[in-house]
Amino acid sequence: MINNEIINELEQYREQIAGDMIEMSKIPAINPRMNGQGEYKRFQWIINFLEKRNIPYKLIQVPDSAVEEKVRLNVVVTINGTEDTKKTLWLIAHVDTVNAGDLECWNTDPQNPQRKGDRIYGLGVEDNSQAVISGLYTCAILFEKKVQAKCNIGFVFGSDEETGSQYGLHALLEENIFGSQDEAIVPDGGSPDGSFIEIAEKSMVWLKFTVTGKQAHASMPHLGANACSAGMHLGVQLEDMLKKEFTSHDDLFNPPYSTFELTQKLANVDSPNIMPGKDAFFIDMRILPEFKVDQVVKRIDEMIKLFTNSHKGIEVSYEFTNRVDAPTPTSSESEVVQKLMESLKESGIDNGYYGGIGGGTCGAILRARNIPTVVWSHLDELAHQPNEYVIISNIIKDIKIFLLTIQKY
Ligand SMILES: [Zn+2]
Repeated sequence: MINNEIINELEQYREQIAGDMIEMSKIPAINPRMNGQGEYKRFQWIINFLEKRNIPYKLIQVPDSAVEEKVRLNVVVTINGTEDTKKTLWLIAHVDTVNAGDLECWNTDPQNPQRKGDRIYGLGVEDNSQAVISGLYTCAILFEKKVQAKCNIGFVFGSDEETGSQYGLHALLEENIFGSQDEAIVPDGGSPDGSFIEIAEKSMVWLKFTVTGKQAHASMPHLGANACSAGMHLGVQLEDMLKKEFTSHDDLFNPPYSTFELTQKLANVDSPNIMPGKDAFFIDMRILPEFKVDQVVKRIDEMIKLFTNSHKGIEVSYEFTNRVDAPTPTSSESEVVQKLMESLKESGIDNGYYGGIGGGTCGAILRARNIPTVVWSHLDELAHQPNEYVIISNIIKDIKIFLLTIQKY
């Protein structure tokens, strides 16, 4: 049983937790499809954490030629239940990080975490090292105190979340580690006071548009077709059209509407006097579940057709670099939502509420397999931002809520 004594003792782990966060976050784990070396070495640290404590784990290796080791790792720990071993409550964390982006925007070295009071600054410390460390400590405490729940409690430390989980959660689903009665907590989103429980996501799409024209000297535009100019016009037209046509409100979500934003633009030519023959840009789309992605794409197709008909010498193609169609939201009546709400109340968080966000966590993948899943933790939402930090107290608060929730299973 998890008793008050265990909960009250959590504070004693503070320095150890901070030290481990810094040590682990020093090991680069940038996703190989974001110009990194992958998370293999950081997994060695995680494995060492478990082995030092004699915690048995399962290692699931997924071949990937993009990394030096030719394999991506996933670690799974399971604590068997005392009664219902057909059901598992999972805690799921991802080990990979994005890259640091523009180093000029960082006040500290992102790969050399710095502690300032209750905060640690560094790349990936919140997204998702917070969950890796809170998961490891929750797991260690259950083992140390020999605590079992009625159902199994499982921990996943996964690869490759940042570029779609092909070598992580998707591979684990194929290994059939999840059962039909399972539920999951994914601490990869949340709110500063811990009140928000995410149970739904919008569809998430990244579309890359490539506009092809003909390169020419900028002083002789009639000899070519300006792909940059065409791309900018098309981008704005698309964005405006999508925002106008796919308006609709759903108060379950924040913001309560679909979003369509022109974002990345790829470098084209090296000089201002060259009229580009090729131009590429992205639109990030978060679409409320009431619209199908195909519906949106059909309108994009129609607009491209109109556009190229009226722009001589210009061709437009596009590809999905990311597409997650919104699954059915997790029911607010499901056990995991209700038990988590209760745990929040018990620890003085009276304003707990559930809702949806713009998508992009492992939650959607699990919901698509009918596994009720909540995305929850205490955090300031600094993922993918320069000067990302984690609040050490948040890790302790998360562990407390995990333990209180596990106690109810
Ligand atoms: Zn994340």
